[in-house]
Formats: sequence, C-alpha cells, structure tokens
Amino acid sequence: MKLVLVLGDQLSTGIAALRAADKARDVVVMSEATGEASYVPHHPKKIAFIFAAMRKFAARLEDEGWTVAYTRLDDPENAGSIPGELLRRASELGAREVIATRPGEWRLIGLLDELPIPVRQLEDDRFLCSEREFRDWAKGRKSLRMEYFYREMRRKTGLLMEGDEPAGGQWNYDRDNRKPPPGEIEHPGPISFTPDEVVEEVLDLVETRFGGNFGSLRPFTFATDQAQARRALAHFIRHALPKFGDFQDAMLNGNRFLYHAVISPYLNVGLLDPLEVCRAAEAAWKAGEAPLNAVEGFIRQIIGWREFVRGIYMLEGPGYARSNALGHERRLPGFYWGARTRMNCVAKVVEQTRDEAYAHHIQRLMVTGNFALLAGIDPHEVHEWYLSVYADAFEWVEAPNTVGMSQFADGGIVASKPYVASGNYIDRMSDYCKSCDYDVRRKTGEGACPFNLLYWDFLQRHRKRFEGNPRMAQMYRTWDRMTDDRRDDVLDGAHVILGDLDAGRLV
Ligand SMILES: Cc1cc2nc3c(=O)[nH]c(=O)nc-3n(C[C@H](O)[C@H](O)[C@H](O)COP(=O)(O)OP(=O)(O)OC[C@H]3O[C@@H](n4cnc5c(N)ncnc54)[C@H](O)[C@@H]3O)c2cc1C
Ligand code: SF4
Repeated sequence: MKLVLVLGDQLSTGIAALRAADKARDVVVMSEATGEASYVPHHPKKIAFIFAAMRKFAARLEDEGWTVAYTRLDDPENAGSIPGELLRRASELGAREVIATRPGEWRLIGLLDELPIPVRQLEDDRFLCSEREFRDWAKGRKSLRMEYFYREMRRKTGLLMEGDEPAGGQWNYDRDNRKPPPGEIEHPGPISFTPDEVVEEVLDLVETRFGGNFGSLRPFTFATDQAQARRALAHFIRHALPKFGDFQDAMLNGNRFLYHAVISPYLNVGLLDPLEVCRAAEAAWKAGEAPLNAVEGFIRQIIGWREFVRGIYMLEGPGYARSNALGHERRLPGFYWGARTRMNCVAKVVEQTRDEAYAHHIQRLMVTGNFALLAGIDPHEVHEWYLSVYADAFEWVEAPNTVGMSQFADGGIVASKPYVASGNYIDRMSDYCKSCDYDVRRKTGEGACPFNLLYWDFLQRHRKRFEGNPRMAQMYRTWDRMTDDRRDDVLDGAHVILGDLDAGRLV
C-alpha cells in the first residue's frame, strides 16, 4: 500500500500521482497543514479558497472510489506540516512509500526529498511545457524571451494556427490592445458564488485562526469546485473576452475587474486546465464571438507567460526567489499592509487587494510593483507580500513575476528592461490621478507625484547598469537634456520621499 500525496494546488483528477496509484489499494493523503497556511501571512480569502476547494475535491475523490485520509486544520491529530502528516499516516496505515506530484515550490520539493521514507516525485504534467522541454529550449540561448517561447507553444498546441502560420498572419496583436480606460464598462465582473455549507464551515475556521491576517474574508464569492470554475470561465468567455484585449492594461477607481478573467486561482489549483481554457477562447473566436486581438492576447497570457515563468522558476532553482541583482534593501512601507498613503493609485490597489485577494496584472506590475522598484524596496519583502496577498499566488508563478518581471531582481532573466514608469503612465491608463492628493503633472516641488521623482532617482542610481540598454537610451537622453537645477530639484524631491518612507512618515 502506498500513500498518494495531493496538495492544495493539485486538485485535478487526472494529476500524475493519482494516475500512478491504485484506487483499490492506495490511500490519498490530503492535509490542511498549519505550516502551509502560515509560512507567510496569507490573505484569509486565499486560505479559505484552498481549504474549501480541497474539502470538495476530497469528497469528489471519495465519490469516485478513492480512500482519502483527510486532515482538517483543527484536527487534534494534525501534525502541522506536510512531511509530518505523511509520516503520521505512513505509520498509522503501514505504508512504505509515497507517490507525489512534484510540488510547484522548491521549499516543498526539498521537504519531500528529505523524508525518511521513499517519495516518488512525478512531473506535474498539467503544464504544456515539461521541465525538460523548457531546459532544451533555453539551452544555448543568450537571453530567454517569452515571445519566441510562445510561438513554440502555439505550434505545439496548434492554437490559433492556420497550417504553419499564425491566424491572421501575426503572432502577436498587442499593438491593438492597451487602450486607455473606457468611459463605461459593460461587464458586471466575475460571477459571485454564494458559499454553501462546506464553504461556510471553512470560513468560520479561517476567521478564527487567520482573522488577524491582512485581508477581508467576507464576502467570499470564489468558485471552489470544478463545475463552478467552469461556469466562471464560460461567463468570462461570453461577456468579457471580446473586450479583454482592448482594455487589458486599463485601471479604474470604480471598477476592479474590467474585462479580466479572474480565473488564475482556479487554473493554479487545478480546477481549470490551461488547454481547456485556451480552447474555449479559441472556439469563441472561430464562432465570431470574440475578435482575434482579444483571443490571441488572452491565449498568450496562458500558453506564453504562464508557461514561460514556470519554466524559468524550475530552471533557475531554489535560490531564485532570493535574487537581488539591484541590491535593494529598503523595508516594505506599511501602506502595503493597509496603512494610509496619499498616493491614490497605491491606496486603491492595496484596498482592492485587501478586499478581493485580487488585482489585475497592470495594477500589480505598474502600481505596487513599480513603486517598490522605484523606491528600492528589498525584493524578498516584495516577493513575500505578493505571495501572501493574492489568491492565485504560488511560488512558481509569483516569484518570476515579482522577483523577475516586476523587481528586475534576477538581473534581466524574465524582463529585458526594468518595468519602471513615471506617473504619466498611470495617468494615461487609469483615472487614479484625478482623485489624488499629488499632482501627476508636477515633476518637482510641493505636491509633485512621487512616481515622477522616484523614476529619475532610480534611473540615476542604476545608470551604470542601464544606460547601455538600447531600450532605455531615450530615458537617459531626456535626463541629460535637463538643466542642472532641474535635475537637483528632482533628486532632492526624491530624497525627501525616500527619507519620509524610511522614517515611516505619511507619503
Ligand atoms: C508582481 C506580480 C505578481 C504576480 N503574481 C502572480 C501570482 O502569484 N499568480 C498568478 O497566477 N499570476 C501572477 N501574476 C500574473 C498576473 O498578474 C495574474 O495571473 C493575473 O492578474 C490573474 O488575473 P486574471 O485571471 O484576471 O488574469 P487575465 O488578465 O484575465 O489573464 C488570463 C490568465 O493568464 C494568466 N496570466 C496572465 N499574466 C500572467 C503572468 N504574467 N504570469 C503567469 N500567468 C499569467 C493567468 O493564469 C490568468 O488567469 C503576477 C504579476 C505580477 C506583475
Ligand atoms: S498622481 Fe501620482 S501618486 Fe497620485 S495617483 Fe497619479 S501616479 Fe499615483
């Protein structure tokens, strides 16, 4: 008899460990381990989502004839960690071996490797690109660029392909996307699922145990099983996908979701399959229900970015999340955890994150991420923040996005240049600046937008590293054209802001 480990983000009936096990003989082990729920202060919605989805998945496995040894968080026997639970179950049931699907986090892979009983860690083949395939693709390349990897994935899956050619003649329709925010949003946002008994029980438990963590637990409206997640996907494809491309980068004070899918938690725990999602989007295009720019942009996020960042995480190994190529050491300001800030864009994104455990890509990248990078915040603290506060945050996808794409702390493995921008970008893509204490048009002096000041300070601090980058040359030319007085004013203003941050004063 063997134990079959199923983790909280491995809730797919076709997952490798289940395929390799014998339903009649082996026992599935699932555990709400305290260690997993608390190694960073996860958002209460994230914990509740995972526990509720685990409980429902365990019930489904039992319905399908599996024997499941499930440990609830408040079970007095709970050993508190995944290895502890495996050892307890092994001795209780007399098992001598564990079959596992390789976890998506080096920390857990290491813990399983060290277990005193044999553990077979099978590749997680829910990804389209295997670890070996990614390694082979990466081998010998001077730099790894998502766009080329993405084309390989298009060829491999046949998605949006017409023979050997991309549908419509272009691989990437991003030029048609990225429009500024529309006056009116016609989409009411993702479906809200009313908590059933299983979910309510989990919510009570999470409230008692993790109610002090940053984030609102209620209202809780996430899907928690496959059928609900599929409804959420169908709702997105029908109502939001047609406009997804156009307004992918837009941000609004009064609308948190715009035309985004809000399906990443479901994809990442296994309630939705990436290929199923992409085929549904492709079918909408084929049926004339969504334009190519939207469908291509959406599919690129999933078979392009999602697979690419996972490949990088596995390729780079356990040290990746600790990278700090720019040597940034400032502490994460309290306003990331809800303290007051006068910057409306940051306040709005943090408030939304607190309420929803969700922010869309540009909010994460160009508001909270951009600010942290400009201000020189320690990327590990930034990484732990993102890992904590989003319902979709698992290290294989969160770390390359945060440490790599957003903080440039990997020295340029994920991004070819740092994603930094002044307030001008935020003003163009959102309505945040209209209700801000700061003035986005002011570049210096009283009331100048902190993004405007810190932007130039960042570029100066890292001039040696970036001025040779052809994609950044224009920025340095603009700086060099300023008068000495102007440059002094900008840097003085930036140093005041940084001093205020360090002293914990209101910024
Ligand atoms: C600093 C930072 C941290 C991030 N952390 C996470 C994380 O922990 N977990 C996570 O799933 N995504 C993360 N992302 C990527 C992206 O922001 C989210 O996937 C997206 O916002 C999820 O919302 P959605 O389902 O509405 O996505 P949509 O915008 O509707 O996109 C559709 C799907 O594409 C995939 N996708 C889009 N962009 C990316 C990307 N850059 N990397 C991987 N997949 C992508 C997601 O699965 C998403 O559900 C992060 C991005 C940044 C900049
Ligand atoms: S003015 Fe600056 S700080 Fe205020 S919302 Fe705009 S970009 Fe953010």
